[in-house]
Amino acid sequence: MTDCLFCKIVRGEIPAQIVHKDESVTAFRDINPQAPVHVLVVPNQHVGSVAEIGPGNGALLAAMVVAANRIAEAEGVAGSGYRLVMNVGEAAGMSVPHLHLHLLGGRKMAWPPG
Ligand code: 5GP
Ligand code: ZN
Repeated sequence: MTDCLFCKIVRGEIPAQIVHKDESVTAFRDINPQAPVHVLVVPNQHVGSVAEIGPGNGALLAAMVVAANRIAEAEGVAGSGYRLVMNVGEAAGMSVPHLHLHLLGGRKMAWPPG
């Protein structure tokens, strides 16, 4: 999908603060951070949302979580705790239709979420 915002960030066509990149995922700082650490982990290939994930996508999901865990360590929030979030659809507040895992940390999180 060539006109997708996060595909453009993955390709380097739109600038972003990249914190991690490997053969399957790219991670970059959220432009409107909701916590001291707020990083988005996205697949390099376009996937619309986690709703499209099936049994054959286990390796991709694992790569996203492994990257998030490593970034949490690197950002210094692994010990204090962090939250991983995937929004799906309008009611959940999804605004960019390219699968992304939010890594949020560095402050106390409320539950239930807003
Ligand atoms: P969603 O609401 O879809 O779960 O999350 C999308 C996230 O992407 C939001 O937190 C929003 O701030 C972030 N975002 C939107 N546009 C850009 C952008 O151009 N660059 C970066 N780095 N983040 C963006
Ligand atoms: Zn995309």
